[in-house]
Amino acid sequence: PSALVWFRRDLRADDHAALYHALKAARKVWCVFFLDRDILDPLPQADRRVEFIVDSLHALDAQLRALNPEARLIVRHAHAGTALPRLADELHVQAVYASHDDEPAALARDHAVRGALAEMGIALHTAKDHVIFERNEVLTATGKPYSVFTPYKNAWLKKLEPFYLKAYPVARYADALAPLPDDVPAHLPTLSGIGFEPTNLHELALGAGSEGAQALLADFLPRIDRYDVARDFPSVKGPSYLSMHLRFGTVSIRQLAREAHAHRSKGAQTWLSELVWRDFYHQVLHHHPHVAESAFKPAYDAIKWERGKHADTLFAAWCHGRTGYPLVDAAMAQINQTGYMHNRLRMVVASFLVKDLGIDWRRGEAYFAEKLNDFDLAANNGGWQWAASTGCDAQPYFRIFNPITQSEKFDPEGKFIRRYLPELAGLSNKAIHAPWLARPLELAEARIVIGQDYPAPIVDHDEARAKTLARYAVVKAGD
Ligand code: FAD
Repeated sequence: PSALVWFRRDLRADDHAALYHALKAARKVWCVFFLDRDILDPLPQADRRVEFIVDSLHALDAQLRALNPEARLIVRHAHAGTALPRLADELHVQAVYASHDDEPAALARDHAVRGALAEMGIALHTAKDHVIFERNEVLTATGKPYSVFTPYKNAWLKKLEPFYLKAYPVARYADALAPLPDDVPAHLPTLSGIGFEPTNLHELALGAGSEGAQALLADFLPRIDRYDVARDFPSVKGPSYLSMHLRFGTVSIRQLAREAHAHRSKGAQTWLSELVWRDFYHQVLHHHPHVAESAFKPAYDAIKWERGKHADTLFAAWCHGRTGYPLVDAAMAQINQTGYMHNRLRMVVASFLVKDLGIDWRRGEAYFAEKLNDFDLAANNGGWQWAASTGCDAQPYFRIFNPITQSEKFDPEGKFIRRYLPELAGLSNKAIHAPWLARPLELAEARIVIGQDYPAPIVDHDEARAKTLARYAVVKAGD
């Protein structure tokens, strides 16, 4: 029998469940990736994620050839939903193998593809790859999905036997990787060949493919024991920066969880906890797909967000990092320039948009979806609904981050702010968190005129706080 492995967000050839199952079951195995026009066509012409994917496809092709010199990755710039069944037919395979993708659009696509393949007598086998536990694997004693993180995490840890962390030994069966038939060319893509322009991905030294991921992991592991104390400070190299690799599957979640589990330190445990949050939000989306459009807690859909021109002006100021609150503006500069934002800052800017500006969390979620290199529907939605207090095990609505206190606490010397807002670099460590409150002499010495060189704050935090408490009062009854 022969089989086709359909790669999607699992761009590596090591420790890969679907590839392993295909190689074990079939004598001839081919591998394909679709640069899916349904996803790519609406994107702007320059998108770091597309460039990262193209780089990672070259890396995956090289990885397959290293496993077996005969192997080639087939790449097609096409509508995957129709092109995949056509290719499977051309290759006369009996089965297609792929990893689960539980995002609603991917589930719909896979459902249609499964039907089209079935009509041709071809099976679609899918396997878990993206997370450690998914779907119904971690449930409460009464068989319900968890909606509170800590008991979920305890159950997750209890279930974590070595079996779940074991790597799939792909190399053992690599003989089954087959050369392409003459009439099926590989077509490895270039960025311009699919109509995209280069971004600053290479300048940012965001290495793609397995190699890029392993380099980041090697850099992180010596720091993992200090993760718990370093992770909250955006100017410190605390986190792993692996999120983009996890998004595109250029690293195996099992390898990361294994590493975290093996280091017994508090830092490593805290990091493992973050990987559990990732699984948690993944299963929230699976069990409650309505979160992609509306609040996890329906009562919160009654909240009236700011609308109209004034709201649009506030939203634009947030997007462009012109709110007058330096930590918020520096964080927005980070996402706009690099596609990454530190986790602490994601919480700060999300809270600011929703609870200081009164803007619907879905607008912020959509902005992040467009900009984040690591954009992941489940994690992004979970993060936004957490900050907006509308979500599963979210921050209580009356807990409202003070953007100045957050700045003083997590960027005490203004190092992060200075990096992204050089116009404020001349201010003291004390004044940099709220420049409009600085003494006139200090502002003059730093050559800053508020409202000219740097914006005046677009809202007063105390007033905004009171407004937010009133806005959320509508949900108190249903909470
Ligand atoms: P590390 O601190 O090294 O953590 C390791 C990994 O754990 C991450 O790569 C990520 O896969 C996972 N992780 C960490 N924190 C979380 C979390 N709170 N929820 C889910 N997974 C987590 N993460 C995304 O991967 N994609 C998103 O689109 C995304 N959007 C977010 C939006 C908001 C408003 C908030 C508050 C958080 C969001 N996060 C998102 C979670 C988190 O901010 C990022 O995963 C993290 O900053 C990525 O950096 P890192 O790889 O250095 O993380």
